[in-house]
Amino acid sequence: MKIICIGRNYTDHIKELANERPEDPVVFLKPDTSILLHKQPFFIPPWSDDVHHEVEVVVKINRIGRHIDQKFAHKYYDEIGLGIDFTARDLQQKLKSKGLPWEKAKAFDGAAVVSRDFIDKKELPALDALDFQLFKNGELQQDGNTSLMLWKIDEIIAYVSQYFTLKIGDLIFTGTPAGVSRVEENDVLKGTLNGKEMFEIKVK
Ligand code: ZN
Repeated sequence: MKIICIGRNYTDHIKELANERPEDPVVFLKPDTSILLHKQPFFIPPWSDDVHHEVEVVVKINRIGRHIDQKFAHKYYDEIGLGIDFTARDLQQKLKSKGLPWEKAKAFDGAAVVSRDFIDKKELPALDALDFQLFKNGELQQDGNTSLMLWKIDEIIAYVSQYFTLKIGDLIFTGTPAGVSRVEENDVLKGTLNGKEMFEIKVK
């Protein structure tokens, strides 16, 4: 399986990083080896001093497809989860400034937190108004709502499937709202989706 991530999908987060608003979705991949195993802590890699949490709504693909029409995109997923796109911001800035791919800063081992449970979309209210949060050491750090996405889930599926065949079990990280911050040893990161706790991660 693969993880497809969307960058710069929330205006307030684009502003906080002083990025340009993209004309097309910003897309990058994480390999399956980047998934943090359940109940494992996140270890800050020794080569970074500025790893940020990015909480994101995650869509699980349930059938194979390519060149998916936006009006059929809803048939390609049943479940919604929550994750963290850990980003080594120092390395990412360095790579970006040289125009190099930023995989090393985003796709390293442990860089993808995926909630163990996913929620059936039928049990959720409108998918374009999902509330999600990240709490760091009990304090609200990121507070998002999918209504603020530049590209909605179905648009993302239509877009990325022009480039990548989607397969069963693939995950799409749909971008992070504002409030990203550096993680430190002993931090505890908790994610909630529509009020339900989806994960709790310890940082080492
Ligand atoms: Zn992200």
